[in-house]
Amino acid sequence: SANNIVLNVNGIEVIYNHVILVLKGVSLSVPEGRIVSLLGGNGAGKTTTLRAISNLLQGERGEVTKGSIEFRGERIENLTPADLVKRGVVQVMEGRHCFAHLTIEENLLTGSYTRSSKGEIEANLEKVYNYFPRLKTRRTSQAAYTSGGEQQMCAIGRAIMASPNMVLLDEPSMGLAPQIVEEVFNIVKDLNEKEKVTFLIAEQNTNMALKYADYGYIMESGRIVMDGAASDLANNEDVKEFYLGMG
Ligand code: ATP
Repeated sequence: SANNIVLNVNGIEVIYNHVILVLKGVSLSVPEGRIVSLLGGNGAGKTTTLRAISNLLQGERGEVTKGSIEFRGERIENLTPADLVKRGVVQVMEGRHCFAHLTIEENLLTGSYTRSSKGEIEANLEKVYNYFPRLKTRRTSQAAYTSGGEQQMCAIGRAIMASPNMVLLDEPSMGLAPQIVEEVFNIVKDLNEKEKVTFLIAEQNTNMALKYADYGYIMESGRIVMDGAASDLANNEDVKEFYLGMG
């Protein structure tokens, strides 16, 4: 129902470098406890949408020039990324963004900077190792020497260290073998079901995203062009023709 919408993006426009209009009125909503995917090809505007939500546009010389973004009914456009993490909104950026020179465990611990209690940090670390047994076996390895899949898992694990309510995941499948993509998505589904983490996932891999999501939005050239229940989108002829097999 409309009552349990946690994230509401309302007609946002984003401009880069004062002139390049990249998002042309994007609206979407994410219900509590669901997995919603944001689909579309290269350059459609998925990353920009996630950056707008987690207020990471500034470093890219981008700004939201129209519309609004609400998390649990509160406007969040002017909050810093750190404020958002405190409210439970954490973004996992595209590419793997592990610190190459730190071990897997040190990387995970960097995700707990908003949590002061040692007990909570230790409990979160155990939780991450429980969901990602691979990370436990690699805990003392330098991230630079772990696989792409392990680094993606580490990036998601680091987000989990912040005890998030909502994770914005940018293209988790990027550069990974299909079997590893499946492994990552299975863990995401597990975190969603057992930890009640809500996910908004930007993906070019439409097949995989629709298999795991509850609902999907499809973007093209800075606009949402279609949305629906994941199972409906997966069976839609246009989606099959234009998007399945991508990624
Ligand atoms: P990808 O899968 O390649 O990340 P995407 O759907 O996430 O694609 P965005 O990265 O949001 O798309 O890019 C949307 C558009 O904005 C593209 O045309 C891109 O060239 C442009 N763009 C992205 N970042 C910047 C920037 N920092 N400055 C100017 N233009 C940008």
